[in-house]
Amino acid sequence: MRNITVIGTGYVGLVTGVCLSEVGHKVTCFDCDKEKISQLKLGKSPIFEPELEELISKNVKINRLSFTTNHSEAFKEAEVIYLAVGTPQKEDGNANLDYIFQAAMDISNYAKGNVIVVTKSTVPVGTNEIIKSLIQADSKNQLKVEVVSNPEFLREGQAIHDTFNGDRIVIGSSSNYAAEVISKIYEPFNIPIIHTDIRSAEMIKYASNAFLATKISFINEISSICEKLGANIDDVAHGMGMDSRIGTQFLRAGIGYGGSCFPKDTKALVQIAGEVNHKFELLEAVIHINNKQQIKLVTKAKERCGSLQGKKVAMLGLAFKPNTNDIREAASLQIANHLLIEGANVIAYDPVAVELAKKHFPQQVKFTSNLIEALHMADIAFIVTEWEDIVKLPLKLYEIMMKTPIIFDGRNCYPLREVNNYQMEYHSIGRSSIL
Ligand code: NAD
Repeated sequence: MRNITVIGTGYVGLVTGVCLSEVGHKVTCFDCDKEKISQLKLGKSPIFEPELEELISKNVKINRLSFTTNHSEAFKEAEVIYLAVGTPQKEDGNANLDYIFQAAMDISNYAKGNVIVVTKSTVPVGTNEIIKSLIQADSKNQLKVEVVSNPEFLREGQAIHDTFNGDRIVIGSSSNYAAEVISKIYEPFNIPIIHTDIRSAEMIKYASNAFLATKISFINEISSICEKLGANIDDVAHGMGMDSRIGTQFLRAGIGYGGSCFPKDTKALVQIAGEVNHKFELLEAVIHINNKQQIKLVTKAKERCGSLQGKKVAMLGLAFKPNTNDIREAASLQIANHLLIEGANVIAYDPVAVELAKKHFPQQVKFTSNLIEALHMADIAFIVTEWEDIVKLPLKLYEIMMKTPIIFDGRNCYPLREVNNYQMEYHSIGRSSIL
């Protein structure tokens, strides 16, 4: 059992802290956001993640998990400190490391003994070395610090499951001692561990996300060609994915990737490469393709309807993917923006992401948590997120509820042969339209 402090109680930090407490460690989660910590103290999770709240209350009850905004309390007993603060995108595409450096200064000022600092946040190659020297240079307590790069691969919406069932745990360190301690912490997870140097571990994270983003943009490009040639992207992707060298995952054509990771991490890797004079042309193309893909439904709707002025458009789904309330860099934001520019009246439905989305469009978009209300008398419906209730919505309801059942499905939720049974117009991605 170790005394662990986790800095940052977002998607990564909270899930990491909770899962480490679940396997027996004593975990203190520290965040500077007072609102988040007071919610957590009441047993409420600030993020929507299956199983999370149950595990929080279980581990708080047995005193293995606590939450604080107080620096002294957070660091006084820490042997291992996880860094899980945000590394958002700066305007130039680089990763903003302000939160990381602030957290490093806090460790330096408040940690009492020697510590192992484990960086879960996604940080550019070389950052862990800076973290180490920052903590040591500023430390009044002459701390001895070892750093470990331990990038995170969880998927939002299944974060708890992924933490306990990941494909691999990457531990990058120049200290055998630190690498051993962290491997031991993860022993109960029974997940293969790979040991690397720090820089390789940092690069594994960026390269993995860039590769997955590349798969998505690749299949989206193939889908655009399929549309023009009369092939069906679902069959094409299925046929490709059965080749074990290719694999089925991340081969679903749609309206592009979004979320808090792929968009920012691909842009950051282009910058990281640029700094060593490598123009990462492939990844630049991936990003460009994705930007176009995110607004593909609007482009299609304009081509079909001419003008969208005054049309009631039902947007079904706001979250960047199902089972999360995260709307960071979601295609829905781009779509809503473009629809508003075209003069459409937008009503948006999402089962959990409405509150966050309201902050982006406080006046302009109407929001509802009722799917049927969104569709009522709509001229056009856009399927944006493949939430289960949206995927399972009987097609008959579009026919009955909408003024004119014209659907633009960005997630290919319905088989074409099923759509053929209804009186509706249906446009999807990489498949023939049904008129
Ligand atoms: P998040 O924005 O949800 O949470 C970050 C938290 O850190 C916030 O609660 C914020 O208040 C807190 N924070 C910031 N500075 C702080 C400080 N100095 N002291 C204490 N708390 C501070 O971020 P996230 O989605 O959990 O991502 C965290 C990191 O993990 C990022 O680098 C991200 O790229 C990476 N990552 C995220 C995911 C994901 O699916 N979200 C997956 C893998 C990796």
